[in-house]
Order: sequence, then C-alpha cells, then structure tokens
Amino acid sequence: MGLQPDRVSLVNKETIMKHWQLIIQHIEQTTSQAFSLKQQRSMAGGSINQAFLLTSEDGQQYFVKTNQSGRQDMFEAESKGLLEIASSRAIKVPRPVCFGDDGVQSYIAMEFLDMTGQADQALLGEQLAAMHNVSAERYGWHINNTIGATHQSNSWTDDWLDFWCEQRLGYQLQLAAKNGYGGELQSLGEKLLVEMPSLFVGREILPSMLHGDLWGGNAAGLKDGTPVIYDPAFYYGDRETDLAMTYVFGGFTPTFYNSYQNAFPLDDGFAIRKTFYNIYHIINHLNMFGGGYHGQSINMLKQVLAEINYINVRDIL
Ligand code: ADP
Repeated sequence: MGLQPDRVSLVNKETIMKHWQLIIQHIEQTTSQAFSLKQQRSMAGGSINQAFLLTSEDGQQYFVKTNQSGRQDMFEAESKGLLEIASSRAIKVPRPVCFGDDGVQSYIAMEFLDMTGQADQALLGEQLAAMHNVSAERYGWHINNTIGATHQSNSWTDDWLDFWCEQRLGYQLQLAAKNGYGGELQSLGEKLLVEMPSLFVGREILPSMLHGDLWGGNAAGLKDGTPVIYDPAFYYGDRETDLAMTYVFGGFTPTFYNSYQNAFPLDDGFAIRKTFYNIYHIINHLNMFGGGYHGQSINMLKQVLAEINYINVRDIL
C-alpha cells in the first residue's frame, strides 16, 4: 500500500528540514556564529538554480542557491570566481561563505546583498575597466566552470585564438552537433573557426580578469547605487568578450559604455568582434534551450563571415 498523501508531505518536509539544517550548520561552522533560522524565503530570478534568502532571529541574512546533488563543482567554481574578482578590489561582488553537497542537493551560501537600487552606470563602467586591467600570464583559469548549465573548459593557453577556437566556439559547435544541430550551422561555424584570425590582425590581447557571463541579469545596484556583479563564469581572456555580452539582452546604458571607454578605450573593430564573441553565448543558449536560437546563431555566423569577407577584400584592394 502506498503512503497516504499527508504522510508523503510529512516525509518531504522532514527531508527538506534536515537538508536546511545541514546548510545552516555549514554556515555556522564557516562564520563561527550561531544562526537561528527565523525565515527561509524563496527568491525569483535565477535561471539555473533555486534561490533563497535565509534570515536569522538576530537579523543575519544569507543568499543560498541550490541545485540537484552532484553540482558541487559548479558552486565551488562560482565561489572561487567570486573570491578572485573580490581580490581585484575593483568591483563589488557578494562574499561567498560555503558550498557543498549533502547527497540530496548541492548548495552555495553567500552574503545577501539588497540589490533593489539602480547601479551607478558611470561607476560600473569605471570599475569593470579596473577589473579588466587586472591580468594573468595566459588565457584560461586553474579550474573549469559552467556557462549557464553548460561545461566551460579553461585550460591555460598561450594563444588567445587557440583558446577561443578550442575551448569556446569550437566546443559549443561540437555540443550543437551532438544535440542534432548539424548542416548549415556546422559548415558556417567551421568556416568561421578557420577565418576568425582576420578579425584580430594587429591586436594585442591582454589576458584580462573577466566576469565571463556579464548579461544584464548578473549586474545590479545596492540601494545607494553601488554596482554589484555576481554569478560569474570566471576566466582570464579578452576583455571585449565581457563588453560584448553586455549587449546580448541589454540592461546597460550609454553612460556605462562611455565611462568604460574613457577609462580603458576599446580597439578599433570591436563592433564586428562583438557579434563574433556573442555567437558563443547564442550557441550556448541553443544548446540549453533550442528553438529560436538556431536561426539567430545562423544569422550571426553569416553576418560575421560577410564582415570578414569585406575586410579581406578591402585589404587586397
Ligand atoms: P542562477 O545561478 O540561477 O542564474 P543568480 O546567481 O543569477 O542565479 O541569482 C538569481 C537572482 O538572485 C539574481 O538575479 C539576483 O536578483 C539575486 N541575487 C544573486 N545573488 C544575490 C546575493 N548575493 N544577494 C541577494 N540577491 C542575489
């Protein structure tokens, strides 16, 4: 005989309570401060994980994200990415507290920030430029991470174009082929992998500290306007990739772009490379969600290949 409905919900409740007790214990151990739970509130807005605000009787607050068991690596990389951005002292990020996996769910807990203000866009541009001025010796990072829900490989590489070809655009194209997107997407993609050096002639590319997933939903402002960025897909690479991503879904104002440009001017040709770089994110969206991202990927590939053709013809004449 099956369990009665009220018994089922009781069992679920017990499991959930045990799970949250373990997370709270982990927070207490890490912060060396007792946390007596007053309220656990579900928060909207996450595209990948479930998000919660935990509040204690004495007013402490933590932001916690959870996902199915087995995603601890994703949260470990997020925690390390936040710490590395914090180490730049260039821009505010939430302070990570702990991450783990209790066999039921994976989780990350971090400082809760009240991001109900409007980010000061001039400051955001200046601070992002300062973060991009922090650089590594090579392109990549010491650990892999995720972009959305997709694996993102970051093996240290000396050559930026090799890095982008193998670990970014080429990787997403291979994934798309596995997901059944062959044909035109693949032939255009392969052509672009071969021809993309034309977009970089004469450019020196600094391995800049990057957020890696800087769409409008990953930047916000505290009540006083202090800019905050969060949910990074961290690595060291061409700063233009972060700038490009800010255009994908909008949310950044002309003041932001002017301020960035004043602090750290972009090289000529960014307008074309912007579309080129965003193909990575749009094919990633195709791989995650399918649908209209297929047509958008094809259009972007064609647009960039046409621009390359124009550059090559112009340089011959
Ligand atoms: P996901 O990993 O699922 O994409 P996010 O990290 O983007 O989730 O977080 C979801 C939402 O929660 C964000 O859009 C933002 O509004 C809010 N948020 C993120 N980090 C914090 C934080 N440290 N404090 C308070 N709110 C946060």
